[in-house]
Amino acid sequence: MTADSHYHLLIPTYRNDFNTCFYCGCIAAGHDYAPPRQYLEFYLATREPSEFLKIPACNECHDHLKACKAGTLDERHKFARAKLAKKYEKALTIYDMWTEDELAGLDFSLRHSIEAGLTLGAETTERLAYPGFAYEAAGQQHNVEYRAPQVFEVFGEQFDTFRAALDFASKAYRIPKNALKQAFADNEHHFELAIQAMHKQVAEKEFNQQLKQQCAAFAKQHKQAVIFVHKQVERYLSENDEMTITEALAHLYLTRIKPAETARR
Ligand SMILES: [Zn+2]
Repeated sequence: MTADSHYHLLIPTYRNDFNTCFYCGCIAAGHDYAPPRQYLEFYLATREPSEFLKIPACNECHDHLKACKAGTLDERHKFARAKLAKKYEKALTIYDMWTEDELAGLDFSLRHSIEAGLTLGAETTERLAYPGFAYEAAGQQHNVEYRAPQVFEVFGEQFDTFRAALDFASKAYRIPKNALKQAFADNEHHFELAIQAMHKQVAEKEFNQQLKQQCAAFAKQHKQAVIFVHKQVERYLSENDEMTITEALAHLYLTRIKPAETARR
């Protein structure tokens, strides 16, 4: 019995899917094996999960899957996707960050390289979203698992792609795309949380700047050490949520500075 006889050929149910890579939708050039042929004995002996399939695959997916020991179609599909995403990471980033209409002002070589990234990024995005196809193997029919289309929501507006949502959110909320993309990843893949977190950051930064400036001006005017003013104001603010920096400085003046001035006269 040859090794191949343990495998069932995965045959597309519909003519349109003939010669197509099951993992990414490109033209198939050969076959991937689930489990890999060098682990066949192991899978047969251990009965680890595997469908024992011979799967049409393109050269690139086939190459990537050489490093994959998994036995199931689903695991191998995930592995192939992750490898593709890693390989074309740069192009995917360009695709997320740029739109065609932003290219006009760029010099030739930069525009050329970003255009190439956009094309490759769009193609890779499509390959990564490829769901596989309906097939028959060992006399059994398998349908494509239905996956609800992904929707990205930004404060009530809905988008089909991350790219479109990022573009909208970046323009509507005046946040640079790369910072927003990072915040999206840091905040549960949620645009609203990301935008709120970034606005909070900006507000905190502005507050700290105000605090520094006003304390420095106050210290100079009343001939006090900046660090003393700063520490006092921070203490007042921590004791009273409602208090503003200006109010805290006024409080400092009335309770500490003015009595000392009066005493000196
Ligand atoms: Zn492929």
